[in-house]
Amino acid sequence: MILEESVLLVGAGGLGCGAALALAAAGLRHLVVVDDDVVEESNLHRQVLHKNAAVGMPKAQSLAATLAQRYPSVEVTQMQTRFDATSAARLLQGCAALVDASDNFRTKFLCNDAAVLARIPLVHAAVAGLRGQLLTVAAGGRPCYRCLFEDLPPPDAGVGPPAGPLGPVPGVLGALQGTEAMRFLRGAPAFVGRLLQYDAASLSMRLVRLRPNPHCAVCGTRPTILGLDPSAYSMQRSSP
Ligand SMILES: [Zn+2]
Repeated sequence: MILEESVLLVGAGGLGCGAALALAAAGLRHLVVVDDDVVEESNLHRQVLHKNAAVGMPKAQSLAATLAQRYPSVEVTQMQTRFDATSAARLLQGCAALVDASDNFRTKFLCNDAAVLARIPLVHAAVAGLRGQLLTVAAGGRPCYRCLFEDLPPPDAGVGPPAGPLGPVPGVLGALQGTEAMRFLRGAPAFVGRLLQYDAASLSMRLVRLRPNPHCAVCGTRPTILGLDPSAYSMQRSSP
């Protein structure tokens, strides 16, 4: 069954490729993919929608081309731009959900804050090494990603998780992201407020129940983040 709504996918790397395939396979009509990076040969093994011939091509363009070949019924809009504090609200316009397939903390906080402020559901995922996590945030948060991780790490903490993901792990989490987004958009009971933790080393998944943080800066009772301040989000490149 086709779902006529649009989904914004931030990141066309390993997570993004897995999520795009799941969204298309589940019947999404319109996908908007945002990424300002280019395809690199060293990433091909885990970014399964990019072909060898696409090395050097913008990732958003490459993902859109491969997905359109495989799923002609899906309309893919590709944006070769950075999802940042100045473009976020515009890119989210008209979208029913945001799928965060980025690979760095700052973009993840930005995705969360932008989605909560726009009252658009968010499906977050992150990967490192053999592990991954997934969190669906309902429109308006409560709880949201910032309820769990209150603030950005310090600037010298690096751009993201310390270990690069094992090849297939982003694909697993991306597939779960796309599946969860489609379930949520179709009105099925979603796992809002529960953090899914995946560990390939023990072949285990577990759900951890989260509570809203009343002091959360974006979805708490007295929020201090009322808009997206560009100085609060310094973008990093590439996606897993
Ligand atoms: Zn929150």
